Amino acid sequence: MAKKILLTGDRPSGPLHIGHYFGSLVNRLAMQDDYEPYIMVADVQALTDNFNQPEKVRENVLEVAMDNIAAGIDPKKSALFIQSQIPQIAELTVFFSNLVTVNTLKRNPTVKAEIAEKRDLFGSEGESVTYGFLGYPVSQAADITIVRADIVPVGEDQLPMLELTREIVEKFHHIYDCDIFPRPQAKLSDAPRIMGLDGSSKMSKSLNNAVYLKDNPEVTAEKIRAAKTDSGSSITYDPKNRPEISNLVMLYALIHNAKPEDAVKDLAGMNYVAFKEKLATDLNHYLAPLRAKRAELEAKPHYVKELLEMGRKRVLDKAEETISLVRSAMKINY
Ligand code: ATP
Ligand code: MG
Repeated sequence: MAKKILLTGDRPSGPLHIGHYFGSLVNRLAMQDDYEPYIMVADVQALTDNFNQPEKVRENVLEVAMDNIAAGIDPKKSALFIQSQIPQIAELTVFFSNLVTVNTLKRNPTVKAEIAEKRDLFGSEGESVTYGFLGYPVSQAADITIVRADIVPVGEDQLPMLELTREIVEKFHHIYDCDIFPRPQAKLSDAPRIMGLDGSSKMSKSLNNAVYLKDNPEVTAEKIRAAKTDSGSSITYDPKNRPEISNLVMLYALIHNAKPEDAVKDLAGMNYVAFKEKLATDLNHYLAPLRAKRAELEAKPHYVKELLEMGRKRVLDKAEETISLVRSAMKINY
């Protein structure tokens, strides 16, 4: 039986952090054998809010690719590719953009939160938001459907994007009287939203509140020590009332492959300082093999580029097949 298709990806807006690892990478690793996986470095999407910083996006393409490979993505199993190298995605985005209203995009809760975070770029009321940024969920629907993906391992912030993708797919099939795409489902991990170390609601590369996979042990320990906590002293897992300490307990649980409710029992009686030291030591231990592999890759950028080229070739055939089905359905197959 043919394997189901998996697509996911990351924006090259910075290197990957532990929120990505526990929020999305763990699932892509676990699913690598049983699915046909496509892992995209979403440079076109990163440019929607970094259009004035092309060097930053370019640099981070390799960073994100190395993070994925170091974490265990096997480029022989998973097609690792760069979004802009598949022009059929851009073409499909144009066709899909007719099927989505501007009001729907403006109501998307993730887009709304991101516009609010990017006041410098988009104005305090979002009055300068660009057409491209507002529309990135449409482009994301095209990323997913160009390989006709069944499943998309993501963090919680991406659920509205998956819902929109299913709406677009249904509308497309209905209007053009065809059945080309599966209805893609999100796959969430046990930690679908790791909070930032500054207490903000999401660890994010754009907010500088993260432990990066590539950080060295000293920097990691420093960041954990400085992580925001409440003024309490006991270590508990109570995300609703004590979100910051609970986020650290969650990280501790994830690296020990335990449930936070159980992991917290190990920590009884410890004060915040001692707990943070232990968390930093254990996190550094957990990430050590990944970091060693990453250091090897950093010394071989050409090899990483070759892997991306291998991925591009694998996606291209599939994308061409999808776009010709789309053109036929839309009666533009002249
Ligand atoms: P940016 O701020 O540029 O959007 P980001 O940190 O949100 O960066 P993305 O590249 O947008 O990272 O996200 C890649 C994947 O990681 C997505 O599936 C997203 O849902 C997931 N993810 C990102 N941040 C977290 C987090 N803090 N916790 C869990 N999952 C996350
Ligand atoms: Mg994001």
